[in-house]
Amino acid sequence: MRVDLLSAVPQQFESVISTSIIQRARTKGIIEIVVHNLHDYATDRFKHIDDAPYGGGAGMVLQCEPLFACIEGLMDQRTYDEIIYLAPDGVPFQQSHANELSLKTNIMLLAGHYKGIDQRVRDTLITREISIGDYVLSGGELPALVVLDALVRLLPGAISDAESALDDSFMDGLLSAPQYTRPAVFRDMPVPDVLLSGNHAKVREWRLDQALRKTQERRPDLLP
Ligand code: SAM
Repeated sequence: MRVDLLSAVPQQFESVISTSIIQRARTKGIIEIVVHNLHDYATDRFKHIDDAPYGGGAGMVLQCEPLFACIEGLMDQRTYDEIIYLAPDGVPFQQSHANELSLKTNIMLLAGHYKGIDQRVRDTLITREISIGDYVLSGGELPALVVLDALVRLLPGAISDAESALDDSFMDGLLSAPQYTRPAVFRDMPVPDVLLSGNHAKVREWRLDQALRKTQERRPDLLP
């Protein structure tokens, strides 16, 4: 899979894409991540890529020219399954979207900035708009990294134990059961006996029961 990240402040991507699971997936050739600085597509010598909004008002808007130049230049080189704009007014991101995106071959993630991007880019080039929640961040870089991380960990070989992702919260419509590790007793707090029993069927039953209870308590909206 290849993911192109487009941004006016691409430095924000660096630490996340060069550490931990994402970096390992890149090293193993599971994912190729290419970062593009929108300032490289500016048409004036001052590298401006934003301008004041028509109709007045505060803030600046990312202009059509650099965005069309960058996105169309990439589209000339390969076919993109999705060209995604991260936007607070996009569709709220869910695990099912990450599952679906992890099966694609080429994805572009466009991070906005300032007041956002010119609507003509959204109307003509963007195939999908994703929000990571009902709040407004200063830029789309963190949302793009959220989407990227959620899908990279699903790629075969990206995490060492492939089954681990399968019983994470939301994968089966439930929140995850509690997890424990050594020691078996810590400050008078014992690990539930069933987890030490070695009886895998009982452990599965306990985890399902715990997952159902937690989901009922915290996210009843997830239950049918
Ligand atoms: N004027 C826009 C609005 O009210 O919808 C907000 C622009 S925001 C300050 C700047 C950029 O941050 C957006 O273009 C978008 O890329 C990104 N952004 C902010 N909050 C986001 C969210 N919750 N989900 C996804 N992207 C977000």
